[in-house]
Amino acid sequence: PEPILQVRNLTVHFYTYAGIVKAIEKVSFDVYKGETFALVGETGCGKSVTSRALTQLIESPGRIVEGQVLYYRDDGSVVDLLKLSEEEIRKIRGNEIAYIFQDPHASLDPLYTVGHQIAEAMEVHGKISNIKEGIQKAIQILKSVLIPDPERRVKNYPHELSGGMKQRVVIGIGVSNNPRILIADEPTTALDVTVQAQILELLDKMKREYNATIILITHNLGVVAETADRVAVMYAGKIVEIGSVDQIFKNPLHPYTQGLLKAVPNPMTKIEKLEAIPGTVPNLINPPSGCRFHPRCPKAMEVCKQKVPELKEIEPGHFVACHLY
Ligand code: SF4
Ligand code: MG
Repeated sequence: PEPILQVRNLTVHFYTYAGIVKAIEKVSFDVYKGETFALVGETGCGKSVTSRALTQLIESPGRIVEGQVLYYRDDGSVVDLLKLSEEEIRKIRGNEIAYIFQDPHASLDPLYTVGHQIAEAMEVHGKISNIKEGIQKAIQILKSVLIPDPERRVKNYPHELSGGMKQRVVIGIGVSNNPRILIADEPTTALDVTVQAQILELLDKMKREYNATIILITHNLGVVAETADRVAVMYAGKIVEIGSVDQIFKNPLHPYTQGLLKAVPNPMTKIEKLEAIPGTVPNLINPPSGCRFHPRCPKAMEVCKQKVPELKEIEPGHFVACHLY
């Protein structure tokens, strides 16, 4: 498999009055061209921070303190996205690498029609010469995100659309510049259960039509089982396991992953119960020493309190950070 992104030692801290929140520490993973790569974990584990840091989308008091995000461009060249200036990264963000966020209401401007907003997204990156041309393209995009009657809908304001329709528009904005990577952060969480499956199907359709790579951020293992090719499991700001969907679901190695899977007896039923593991998510100002999972781990040993476990490849493509291996 060909990499499109190689993330190395990505570390983000938030400098708050209460102390330094070590939101993510030395996060490393590869994303391959054309795959759907899922980042999964409980709320607050750092998965959103990780996805935002990929294009320097970290706001004060947060700071990227270490790491590399190597991005393989179409022409074969490689750039470290973290070394780019604000102006250079803006050309890539929303263009070659686009985001879809959880809440479609917050992603759309209530004052402009959906057509105008799609057109504007293209205009920012010089893909159209005027808004009128953009509106024509917006109609095509609304069609591709399966919005019925796009000629009429293009003139709608966000409040005239249902939550599911709005998220389709947000996805339309996301794909409007034909991105190579689409980062979807909990794209279905704010939606009704009935609409969630449709949105996931749509993401899959976009991946095929636009030939994109998808990074999917979710706390829902059912979503992972249905849509992802590979998975990285995060816990308390660290990646604890990486593998194919098959490896993770059939042969989970990390006690945390095992706990997650036990908490969801059948991932296909989409029961959202990741919090069923005893104990609470640690405070990231003073994270537990050694393995951050040790206070909650049923298999913890003495060494777990002393030494940070490194990610190790146990079988081809299957990595785990745990002293049991
Ligand atoms: Fe449990 Fe130790 Fe493995 Fe951490 S390193 S998951 S505490 S066994
Ligand atoms: Mg989040």
